[in-house]
Amino acid sequence: MSNKKIIIAIDGFSSTGKSTIAKQLAKHLNYIYVDTGAMYRAVTLFAMKNNYINNQSFNQEKLISNLNSVQLNFKFNANLGFAEMFLNGENVEKEIRTIEVSKLVSKVSAISEVRKKLVSEQQEMGKEKGIVMDGRDIGTVVFPDAELKLFMTASADKRAKRRYKELIDRGDKVNYEEILHNVQERDHIDSTRTDSPLTKANDAVEFDNSDMGLEEQFERIIRLVNDHI
Ligand code: C5P
Repeated sequence: MSNKKIIIAIDGFSSTGKSTIAKQLAKHLNYIYVDTGAMYRAVTLFAMKNNYINNQSFNQEKLISNLNSVQLNFKFNANLGFAEMFLNGENVEKEIRTIEVSKLVSKVSAISEVRKKLVSEQQEMGKEKGIVMDGRDIGTVVFPDAELKLFMTASADKRAKRRYKELIDRGDKVNYEEILHNVQERDHIDSTRTDSPLTKANDAVEFDNSDMGLEEQFERIIRLVNDHI
């Protein structure tokens, strides 16, 4: 008998390694992986490109009234082993990961109209199950009935160091203090917003991976998955 397909929801603070574990799981289970943060980042990039938002001001009404012009697609890149984000037909995978987008994304993702659009697209992607989705509200709002929910945490310092290394490795010019500040600021905005704040679902299993190796974490999570399929 083949295993039953489930939905795995992974939520948690910024840079807790959600996407690393989600990618590993999706590969192992032959599931689809959806990075919902990439979708919020792409909407933010859209708002930046159209001058609706910058470091000083944010014209929310303009963004809301133009949300219909935002088309998001994931396209699988076999060389990379994951799906890249396309905004209105353009590959924006690299652009959406910059510190400039990181600084504004939490303001954009606090808007209910933005969330409504993206949540419905995410629910559509999970209709057939067999999906690993990571974000902030997956276990609470997008898939409250997900068979397995994980909630990832780690100390702010560990998370900022990971993020700093990622950006430096790809050649971005950033400083550690700036990254630490961004991680803390996003966590604060994401956890205190009115619509779908980041919070652990009652039935989510919590992982603090400040001092846990990737392998150990993966083995523990696979055991949980096997209990569900
Ligand atoms: O996961 P990542 O750090 O790329 O997410 C970027 C931002 O997108 C988060 O800081 C949060 O503001 C927003 N987000 C969200 N809900 C999700 C995923 C991301 O509000 N499900």
